[in-house]
Amino acid sequence: MTTVSDLSSYFRFVLVRTSHPGNIGSAARAMRTMGFHRMELVSPHRFPDREASALAAGADDVLANAGVHQGLVEGLVGSSMSLGLSARRRGVNLPELTPREAAAQVLAAVQRGEQVALVFGNERTGLENEELARCHAMVRIPSVDDFSSLNLSQAVQVMAYELRVAMLGENVPAPPPAHDEPPADAAQMERFFEHLAQTLDDIDFHKGRAPTTIMLRLRKLFQRAQMDERELRMLHGIFADAQRMATLAKKEM
Ligand code: SAH
Repeated sequence: MTTVSDLSSYFRFVLVRTSHPGNIGSAARAMRTMGFHRMELVSPHRFPDREASALAAGADDVLANAGVHQGLVEGLVGSSMSLGLSARRRGVNLPELTPREAAAQVLAAVQRGEQVALVFGNERTGLENEELARCHAMVRIPSVDDFSSLNLSQAVQVMAYELRVAMLGENVPAPPPAHDEPPADAAQMERFFEHLAQTLDDIDFHKGRAPTTIMLRLRKLFQRAQMDERELRMLHGIFADAQRMATLAKKEM
């Protein structure tokens, strides 16, 4: 039987470039009250720190086990679905969900055995477009337009609460069916995008134009496809052949 606490273990809260250690502590407390334990910190300005421990108010286990990473992708390793929380609509054209809609969607994913990441940005600047581009959807807490930004740990609390309510409302779900192929995780997707970008260069797809916009569109397209590992291997194979043909063609020129 799958319990709420089993399901909770499939989630991680990823805090990106957090400025104030107190917010890390408050976020740990917010997570812990809703039954979540896994925190990943990406380039925190100060951590570990006394202020973080003080504001965690006993959620020390969350802080003690928090991973610290240099880049976002490292914090997402093993997760196949990431949601970026943002107060503002950004240039990245991602599907936008409320926390409640997001909770329903990711609950379905964890029931299939997938790991899910909730990604939160820096207190002042939020998530950069580049960071949102690594997410499958954007979650916006429907605050008022002229004062839309919540304190970081309060945004964590709202999201954690909605996830918990969604999980408690489930009739104890059946154990997730075994995947015949595991879903691609964030690190595999990153290698895929690197190979895709290199292949597009090799076949001279860009013809002098800047690749940035097209790469963001391709990211969006392939993130939406929720590929598994076998599908990734097939596409890597196609790219490798295209690269080989491009090399041959160049030799003949
Ligand atoms: N000025 C920044 C606000 C940063 S607040 C911005 O425009 O994004 C710090 C983090 O808390 C944000 O990056 C986001 O992850 C979360 N957050 C704050 N308010 C939010 C809201 N209304 N909806 C979703 N996330 C929010």
